[in-house]
Amino acid sequence: MKEQLEQIKGSALAAIAGAETEQALEEVRVRFLGKKGELTAILRGMGAVAPEDRPKIGAMVNTIRAEIEESLSARFGDLKAQSMERKLREERIDVTMPAPEKKVGKLHPITQTSNRMVEIFTGMGFEIAEGPEVESTYFNFDALNAPADHPSRDDTDTFYFSENVLLRTQTSPVQIRSMEGKIPPIRMISPGRVYRSDVADATHSPMFHQCEGLVIDKGITMGDLKGTLATFAKAMFGERTRIRFRPHNFPFTEPSAEVDVSCFVCGGKGCRLCKGEGWIEILGAGMVHPNVLRAGGIDPDVYSGFAFGMGIERVAMTMFGINDLRLMCENDARFLEQF
Ligand SMILES: [Zn+2]
Repeated sequence: MKEQLEQIKGSALAAIAGAETEQALEEVRVRFLGKKGELTAILRGMGAVAPEDRPKIGAMVNTIRAEIEESLSARFGDLKAQSMERKLREERIDVTMPAPEKKVGKLHPITQTSNRMVEIFTGMGFEIAEGPEVESTYFNFDALNAPADHPSRDDTDTFYFSENVLLRTQTSPVQIRSMEGKIPPIRMISPGRVYRSDVADATHSPMFHQCEGLVIDKGITMGDLKGTLATFAKAMFGERTRIRFRPHNFPFTEPSAEVDVSCFVCGGKGCRLCKGEGWIEILGAGMVHPNVLRAGGIDPDVYSGFAFGMGIERVAMTMFGINDLRLMCENDARFLEQF
């Protein structure tokens, strides 16, 4: 009996040491200590043991059971620690791994260009004015001295809601809105969207952006206009940029001019950007027509002023070397991330 118990103890301890998982260990426990286990079977067979030997055998069984339980518990603790360690190792976050790339957006080239214009003009003391995109024919045409038969009033060129309401074709109505109820001096710019009934192609779009400018005070001259635009051109296109005025005709200014800047790529020698001209047309300008001043409630005998308007897309395309206006509206990240 004693040898049998020693044998059971030996094989139990060996099985415990060999159990590699918590489940295998549980199977070992059942095999030796369970209801039908080997050690339990010895206790069941005590009836066959001589009565005087029973306490001694019973004590031996209890000692061995305690040893086996202790060994089981120690092994269980080891396996638990091992599996925890394995789990930690497997689930560890590798902080040296490159993180997934985050796409950071940037400002649209139109917005960048517009922001730069605003920055330059506000630096010269201009205020920013706003006007509605849905405008009346009065502000869009009549008050700006556009005669009733002016081609821009034609309903094939303009989006009309009704006879007297339209999507503004220019930012110039903001001139009148800025004059009304104000006493000069006035110095404002107004960047914004304008609309014309054009089919989209490389240089036309039914919606585009303009930046309007207006200065009114006593004694404002063409020299002030020229100085202001020359300062703007140097800040926008580079210190060596020159400007050139060419006579033109606009209903709301007199005299009127189209204004070119010297090509900032070739400096005036002629290149692909300026199409060999050496000059790039960027805006229209002039001295505010007396009729326009009157429409804005300002006395042309006391005050004078100049106004200008430029296409923001045109400037952006020139500066960034973009050759098709439609690219600006396609929202293609591969295009937009270049600027
Ligand atoms: Zn050039």
